[in-house]
Amino acid sequence: MTDQPVLITGIRAGLHIRGIDRGDTPIADYLCGRCGHHHRATGRDEVTTFLRTDPVASHHAECLAASTAA
Ligand SMILES: [Zn+2]
Repeated sequence: MTDQPVLITGIRAGLHIRGIDRGDTPIADYLCGRCGHHHRATGRDEVTTFLRTDPVASHHAECLAASTAA
């Protein structure tokens, strides 16, 4: 019986973008160090749209609202 917490390995908290300059498929990862929320955008269009929404600021607002609501 495994009862381990969900752990996303290889991604550190914050917003990370890779592959954007190398001709690869761009990938943007956002991992919230506070609540563990993770979002991944894959592909140039999706990454561009994702970044345009300012994911860090918009999630911080949600995250703070959720933590203070408790
Ligand atoms: Zn959060």
